[in-house]
Amino acid sequence: MNLAEPQKNFSLKAYNTFGIDQVAENFISVNHIDKLRETLLKYATKDLFVLGGGSNLLLTQDVPGLTLHINLKGKEIIDTYDAENCVLVKAMAGEVWHEFVLWSLENGLGGLENLSLIPGSVGAAPIQNIGAYGVELKDSFVRCDAVEIETGILKTFDKAACEFDYRHSVFKTKFKNKYIITAVYFCLTKQNHLLKTDYGTIQTELTLQGVENPTPSAISKAVISIRQQKLPDPKMIGNSGSFFKNPVVEKTIFQSLKEKYPDMPFYEVGDLVKIPAGWLIEQAGFKGKRFGDAGVHTKQALVLVNYGNAKGRDILALSDKIQQTVFKIFGIQLLPEVNIYP
Ligand SMILES: Cc1cc2nc3c(=O)[nH]c(=O)nc-3n(C[C@H](O)[C@H](O)[C@H](O)COP(=O)(O)OP(=O)(O)OC[C@H]3O[C@@H](n4cnc5c(N)ncnc54)[C@H](O)[C@@H]3O)c2cc1C
Repeated sequence: MNLAEPQKNFSLKAYNTFGIDQVAENFISVNHIDKLRETLLKYATKDLFVLGGGSNLLLTQDVPGLTLHINLKGKEIIDTYDAENCVLVKAMAGEVWHEFVLWSLENGLGGLENLSLIPGSVGAAPIQNIGAYGVELKDSFVRCDAVEIETGILKTFDKAACEFDYRHSVFKTKFKNKYIITAVYFCLTKQNHLLKTDYGTIQTELTLQGVENPTPSAISKAVISIRQQKLPDPKMIGNSGSFFKNPVVEKTIFQSLKEKYPDMPFYEVGDLVKIPAGWLIEQAGFKGKRFGDAGVHTKQALVLVNYGNAKGRDILALSDKIQQTVFKIFGIQLLPEVNIYP
């Protein structure tokens, strides 16, 4: 198999949804698993950067070494799974997440509908256990295949091995930069779908659309409509979705904050309390603020935006300013959800 030569000094502007113009010293897009493994053996040094759809990424400098764009394609229904109600579905890492969700719905399968319209690739979805509207990837995840970067050996990780949590997996800690996910397997329902309509404004949107008995496809349509109204389209304005994670605090901390800020929204998560980071940022006065070409979105304070020619470091400086101000006011440390390179 012929290996592609790396493209030198390759602009990554079209490969990250922030639209940041940084350059990869060497760039290869791989569309076959054998090519991926051979490329790793031939070129990979410690300077390897793995790129999917670039929708959860802030580049603050050029990328030395090799940038490997994962473009493995393919999706299939493999088998009946779990007492006939589920099927096992396999999707390769380079599939576009939202196209995969739509394909699953066209095949009459349920489970991913609330995760409609999340940008990015299938392979990156387990990295932060993507989630939206009360559903997370882990809810339908069965296992993933991943190539070990150092050896090129293909391994399988089941759900427990992935250590999923809120916007978190083992690939962000112990196995960070050690594996490339090549395929993800899901258990999707053929019937008796576990529909989640109680989160956010899904039910209101379904009512607006005149849907009385929702199907997975109807929920997907509702989620798409809500997201299109609320979130900026990266094709129109550069962004990476939620820039920060929603902080989770102890109940005692929450209670003293609530006394001071009675309007503060919250969600109980077991013994802890989650506070919407967007609300904190809005209270800190940043919603809609613009500093040169870096800004905070006018409708959603959790989304930082590039109005055109912002550098990654401009966005980073703004995120630092937000973190410091929120900490000063509320004593809460916001942590980025976006992967900041380097
Ligand atoms: C408008 C908008 C809305 C969004 N809404 C949501 C949302 O509702 N919920 C949510 O959870 N996220 C959301 N996101 C964030 C983003 O879409 C997800 O995190 C997505 O999974 C990122 O996929 P990607 O392919 O673009 O990853 P990239 O940005 O390319 O990479 C992200 C990280 O994963 C690593 N990586 C990528 N592919 C692989 C692979 N195959 N193997 C190993 N490592 C890999 C990269 O090195 C990097 O560290 C949103 C983003 C945008 C722009």
